[in-house]
Amino acid sequence: MAHSYHHAVSSARKWGGRPEDYQPIHDWLDGSKVILADFRHRALRHHSEGCFAAEALFGITITNSAGRAVPVRMIAEQHIIEDLGCIPSFADWVRCIKPEPWMGRVGTRLDAEQTDATPTEGPDA
Ligand SMILES: [Zn+2]
Repeated sequence: MAHSYHHAVSSARKWGGRPEDYQPIHDWLDGSKVILADFRHRALRHHSEGCFAAEALFGITITNSAGRAVPVRMIAEQHIIEDLGCIPSFADWVRCIKPEPWMGRVGTRLDAEQTDATPTEGPDA
């Protein structure tokens, strides 16, 4: 499993500048290792929506230390392709989740206080 630093070195090779110009984006993509130490952590951000989420978080482009604007989505795509060989959709990951009964449970009954509650906010409140 590639370390986020090695992805950053690869970004610097591809677009110029220094690895640290790209490190925050690669750290964010692999930040899900905090919750799962094996490759399954990638399900959280290594997909097309993750590329757009990175863009929303870091902006459309970053300007590297060589003064070049680099699209954030392209940096995320580079990372994911280096890890997976393609950019899956989130649906591709979800298809691999084995459904368990608790995932589709109807749920517990709402208590009476919640079901009888009337809105306290809004134009008439
Ligand atoms: Zn990764």
